[in-house]
Amino acid sequence: MIKNRNLVFLGAPGAGKGTLAQMLCQEMKLAHISTGDILRNEIKNGTDLGKKANSYVTSGGLVPDDLVADMVGKRLLEKDCQNGFVLDGFPRTVNQADLLEKVLVKIGKKIEKVVYFEANEELLIKRLTARLLCKKCNTNFNTIFSPPIKKGICDKCGIELYQRPDDSLETAKDRLKIYNVQTAPLVPYYKKKNLLSVINAELSKEKSYPELIKVLS
Ligand SMILES: [Zn+2]
Repeated sequence: MIKNRNLVFLGAPGAGKGTLAQMLCQEMKLAHISTGDILRNEIKNGTDLGKKANSYVTSGGLVPDDLVADMVGKRLLEKDCQNGFVLDGFPRTVNQADLLEKVLVKIGKKIEKVVYFEANEELLIKRLTARLLCKKCNTNFNTIFSPPIKKGICDKCGIELYQRPDDSLETAKDRLKIYNVQTAPLVPYYKKKNLLSVINAELSKEKSYPELIKVLS
């Protein structure tokens, strides 16, 4: 059993925090919270917050931070969060973290631990650009975790694999740049609040998972 159950997961794209969040939530019966899911649900259900958010989405703008924070607060009051939750991908900026704190005070909850998944940039880029796809059968390969038998060729169809533009080196570098400017300042932010634990995200998920359990126990 883990002691800390109200959690924020922090880390660069490619650090693997989503995978570990999934593993943890499944085993410990925590709610896995992503703001994308919340936003889609609120809009689909036509709630007041959803209607407000939708007006930004349809005009092609970004949903303002305070609105997202309110939606997160509402989500955390749902029954499946009573046992604990993992905020995965939120907050993404210091401003969002400040707003989250205010919302948490309002709903009488507290973040108990912020887990930072640390990995060097070279490895992150390697992971982010490792995905290859087959045009014909859509099978996903990963040059690190599940490489095709013959380099660059689909196991099933024998044709050349391709890389989605989203997985290109350029996109990976852009995503990391944005992370470094907007999100990385949350590491010292939460350290100062004595909430931060660091996990070595350069290991395989089988190796980092026990490490995660240890810091939460
Ligand atoms: Zn194929």
